[in-house]
Amino acid sequence: MAASQRLPDLPEPADLGEQMVALMTELYPICRSITGDGVRASLRMLQRHIPLHLHEVPTGTPVFDWIVPREWNIRNASITTAAGETIVDIKQHSLHILNYSVPIDAWMSLEALRPHLFTLPDHPDWIPYRTSYYAENWGFCITQRTLDSLVDTEYHVVIDSTLGPGHLTFGELVLPGESAQEVLVSCHCCHPSLCNDNLSGMVLATFLARVLSTRHNRYTYRFLFVPGTIGAITWLALNEPVTARIAHGLVVACVGDAGHMHYKRSRRGDAEIDRAVEHVLRGSGKPYAVRDFSPYGYDERQYCSPGFNLPVGSLSRTPHGQFPEYHTSADNLDFVHPANLADSLATYLAVVNTLEHNRVYVNTNPKCEPQLGRRGLYSTIGGRQDTKAIELAMLWVLNLSDGQHALLDIAERAGIDFGVICEAASHLKAHQLLVED
Ligand code: ZN
Repeated sequence: MAASQRLPDLPEPADLGEQMVALMTELYPICRSITGDGVRASLRMLQRHIPLHLHEVPTGTPVFDWIVPREWNIRNASITTAAGETIVDIKQHSLHILNYSVPIDAWMSLEALRPHLFTLPDHPDWIPYRTSYYAENWGFCITQRTLDSLVDTEYHVVIDSTLGPGHLTFGELVLPGESAQEVLVSCHCCHPSLCNDNLSGMVLATFLARVLSTRHNRYTYRFLFVPGTIGAITWLALNEPVTARIAHGLVVACVGDAGHMHYKRSRRGDAEIDRAVEHVLRGSGKPYAVRDFSPYGYDERQYCSPGFNLPVGSLSRTPHGQFPEYHTSADNLDFVHPANLADSLATYLAVVNTLEHNRVYVNTNPKCEPQLGRRGLYSTIGGRQDTKAIELAMLWVLNLSDGQHALLDIAERAGIDFGVICEAASHLKAHQLLVED
């Protein structure tokens, strides 16, 4: 891409890590949930970077087998003693509140309070992340060390929250391309102060949208920032006709940690997105892992449910649940690194570029090999270290461009990097030896 096509304030993907962490740092303190002002405030922060459209879906709206829940908002939550000691206060950490806690203002004994306190005994200094979206409850998430320090006295428990009719909020951005066929990029936006699981996906999707908005794309790109599970279900229920246009999709999560890239295939298993991601990872020269679809994980569960079966995979670094910091206060700003975020973004862009350039061509001279030397196709690229690779790639592209094989098929069959195959195809196109099918 020529430099003039980029916004002046947008560096190369490899240099965007610091900006991604800066955005994450702003988002970090907010107490998000599947509904409420935390999600709204977070999505509005993203609007400073991309023209995100915020949708509000009323409580009670039926969405397939689910119903849009009541809206939850939290103002204050604390446990204090008669002596004026503060045991816990949500102002210190948004994870302290059991997400979706109903309001309470009461004095109670430690014995009565105890069932409402959640800790991580194995990590005594970490705060767990707990939710109770669909069963009415209240509670606090605290460190085991805090719990161990509590004495047998009366505690003043205050949760100033509201749970009532309102809306479910989600963000959507569509970047129109040449084709109405779409690439879906979806992330969840419902976790409170958690960096890798949640915020990393939100900032990567934001910066990917920014990069793609500065260039001319073949595909239309649809970015979704939805509360986990219920948000994806809601979007699918309200946008069923759109799903017919989704040609490829990725669910973004856990893209800031130090682990290597990890791809979870779509339910189809051999969709173009699956092959594109695997080709990029194989060519990266770095360790990576690929696993088959399973109906457990992030919102690919909904996109890949049998009634949709969309070609949507999930590209992350260390998968959810496979790092000890997952869903704890240790998934904080120290757990994610600018270089890892930048590397993840570059990987996503490589996948996008593969999809963008993966076209089917037809060899205009299919009877025996065309004479490449006469056309200067050897000499114009002669002298380069990789000349042989390009020549070989041209022979592969000519041979397999029978209208049945796209460039990615050819790259896989030939065992040649997709970029080299694309370059070969563009030389052949320039000499009218190849036309788009
Ligand atoms: Zn999570």
